[in-house]
Amino acid sequence: MTSLPSRAQVVIIGGGIAGCSVAYHLAELGWTDVVLLEQGQLSCGTTWHAAGLVGQLRSTESMTKLIKYSTDLYARLEAETGFGTGWKQCGSVSVARTPERMTQLRRTASAARNYGIQAEVITPREAGELWPVMRTDDLVGGVWLPGDGKANPSDLTQALARGAQRRGVLVMERVRVTGVTVRDGVVRGVDTTEGHIETEVLVNCAGQWAKELGRMAGATVPLHSAEHYYVVTEPIPGVRPDLPVLRDPDGYAYLKEEVGGLVVGGFEPDAKPWGMDGIPHPFEFQLLEEDWDQFAIIMENAIQRVPALESTGVRMFYNGPESFTPDNMFLLGETPEVRGLFVGAGFNSAGIASAGGAGRALAEWIVNGEPTGDLWPADIRRFARWAGNDTWLRDRVTETLGLHYAMSWPDKELETARPLRRSPVHHLLAEAGARFGSKMGWERVNYFGPATPSTFGRPGWQPYVDAEVAACRNAAALFDQTSFSKFVLKGPEAMEALQWLCTADVDVELGRVVYTGLLNDRGGYESDLTVTRVARDEYLVVTGSAQTTRDFDHISKGLGDRRAVLVDVTGAYAVFGVMGPSSRRILQSVSKSDFSAFEFGTSRLVDLGHATVRATRVTYVGELGWELYVPAEFAVTVHETLMGTGELTQAGYYAIEAMRIEKGYRAWGRELGPEITPAAAGLRFTCKKSGYRGARHALGSPSRRVVSIVLDDPAAHLWGGESLLSDGVPVGYVTSAAHSPTLGRSVALGFVTEVSPEGGVTLEKVEVEVAGDLYSAQISLKAPYDPTSARVKS
Ligand SMILES: Cc1cc2nc3c(=O)[nH]c(=O)nc-3n(C[C@H](O)[C@H](O)[C@H](O)COP(=O)(O)OP(=O)(O)OC[C@H]3O[C@@H](n4cnc5c(N)ncnc54)[C@H](O)[C@@H]3O)c2cc1C
Repeated sequence: MTSLPSRAQVVIIGGGIAGCSVAYHLAELGWTDVVLLEQGQLSCGTTWHAAGLVGQLRSTESMTKLIKYSTDLYARLEAETGFGTGWKQCGSVSVARTPERMTQLRRTASAARNYGIQAEVITPREAGELWPVMRTDDLVGGVWLPGDGKANPSDLTQALARGAQRRGVLVMERVRVTGVTVRDGVVRGVDTTEGHIETEVLVNCAGQWAKELGRMAGATVPLHSAEHYYVVTEPIPGVRPDLPVLRDPDGYAYLKEEVGGLVVGGFEPDAKPWGMDGIPHPFEFQLLEEDWDQFAIIMENAIQRVPALESTGVRMFYNGPESFTPDNMFLLGETPEVRGLFVGAGFNSAGIASAGGAGRALAEWIVNGEPTGDLWPADIRRFARWAGNDTWLRDRVTETLGLHYAMSWPDKELETARPLRRSPVHHLLAEAGARFGSKMGWERVNYFGPATPSTFGRPGWQPYVDAEVAACRNAAALFDQTSFSKFVLKGPEAMEALQWLCTADVDVELGRVVYTGLLNDRGGYESDLTVTRVARDEYLVVTGSAQTTRDFDHISKGLGDRRAVLVDVTGAYAVFGVMGPSSRRILQSVSKSDFSAFEFGTSRLVDLGHATVRATRVTYVGELGWELYVPAEFAVTVHETLMGTGELTQAGYYAIEAMRIEKGYRAWGRELGPEITPAAAGLRFTCKKSGYRGARHALGSPSRRVVSIVLDDPAAHLWGGESLLSDGVPVGYVTSAAHSPTLGRSVALGFVTEVSPEGGVTLEKVEVEVAGDLYSAQISLKAPYDPTSARVKS
């Protein structure tokens, strides 16, 4: 055996498909001083027993592209490495048992085409022609994805490892990592059963072991194992090797051909967590005990789909543990806690499909020092330390496994392991009839009113939200926005640091609030947020609820060695938005401070009843209003004072969403992201002339633009994700949508690619494809509704 080198530029832990893919892609990018360590043999962890399905379609454009790359790679790998991979582009058929599922499939097919994936809506009869052994009389329809396929996971892993080795990567089996050395927050090396290796880049691709390895370094890797099953049957007449993969999500089941029989697997709605006391060692090419009770719901449904299964013997029952994350997306990127420590793990039973693209994305991130595309859905920084709690993770993964085949209702909220993070006034909101959603662990009010059934049409809660919007537009509403992420940046060089990070000029007088972008080197949005200068050497930075870890990490890295410290004060303050034309009068009625001469974009300490709070005049709903930053211990008092006026209507995030879209305000993670520049977003006005990160590319001619969209038909309902067409040709898609009570129809924001060389949009009308039906809509670079001028006119 080759002996362990004393140092390497990169050490990868884990010889599953993920680790081997990272090794392959690092080598392809020219980084070959790489050692991959596997405690057992390659693929011996979870990879060897995967069913090998490779489905391309994901819920976002960037993740779909990532998996599409996997299929391209798997198709060429055999020719390149000489190793068989078992890759077969057999296509896949997904079927619907209910009209609602069919609507979901139609929406999926439309999105697929938008993302460059071939997809065809098919009838039950056509589904039956593609998959003759299935029963179709109980189906509503289906979707045919010809580009999907299947592969042999162990062979793929070997082929990737061989490709990496050929370029110089050292792959070592039977070497176990036992410790990680971190000094000054930076990775320095690993201890192994064969000795110590120094390294500056450590890549944790240890599958279900990745959480423990993260802990060795002091980093949070939020995943938990759950049992996951499939069976392989005896041969069945009519089951041919060229059968596509079949997915029957209403029956929680998938089926694919294997040596004349079927692999029957699935995603039950109530999963069984495993490994609560850690993963036993050794655990190599190992399975868990059969659990037919837990598998029954999948098997019974599979028999309904393929009646021949009733009389077919089962050759083998596979129960293998797989790691699941709190939101069913994998974990990718550099940990915010430890520099040089990267993670590619938590693949939620889609690791074979994802590994090609994820391995490339992680290798590029390592080599370039930052992601080269929009990886936000998978970015490990979407979580924080709290998400590493084992009990919370165990309770959550009972639900996440089943999400693969659960109905993806547009207003779906996860239900397990909640409530977790609560605003100090949570109980008051609950008493007032709040319906909560959750973001970054926070309970947040969606609306006040009764629970209503989910639908793809206009939801039952719409009248309650409309009333909240009307109250805000006509008088004033109170929003609990405590979940905002809040940081204090303080130090003699705080201003210089922010001046470099922010597109806008932040060298402003004390008490000024500045809305600004934070860009990457490519000129794309890493965040948009507000900074308030509260002292000469101190700023309050306020950003979206989901971005606490990511923005903190981005800003901290951007500080370099400037003399300034960044502190996360999110939990220290509640935030109440008092918004609407009456807000000034109402706030004045409970304050001795002067609200009459309180300019837009300024912030100051005010008294409010018996409390002292920071009032900031900004708006995300387009109305006169203030955000009140209230020390947590005063939150209940202030809330009581505000509600005691008897003039405020409580409102939630659905109302905020409708109003910000009416006003054309962009949201990070939807209209703004790492690939979108201020020029594309129509936010040039937030950019100073020069001297900020990303300035070189921020204002160049964009290839797509963010536009406002107003549907002509008042009855149709948009949710986001719908395709935009012009003369039948895709020209973009909807990023955010809501029913506008003010305009009496759906309004939306989205991207269009029909852009003139000067950066204008060359279309005025488009068709919006809603589950296969086309609706005409007006598009514009201007917001559909301007509350102030509307009020002046009316
Ligand atoms: C029943 C079942 C069916 C599945 N079907 C599919 C499917 O059809 N399609 C699909 O895309 N995905 C499927 N999956 C999921 C897929 O198998 C996983 O997502 C994927 O294999 C994860 O790969 P990995 O490299 O992250 O993890 P692993 O394969 O587990 O690799 C991690 C490796 O790290 C090694 N390691 C751990 N700790 C150390 C240490 N301290 N030192 C050195 N080495 C260490 C382990 O030994 C292991 O080999 C399925 C999973 C299951 C359980």
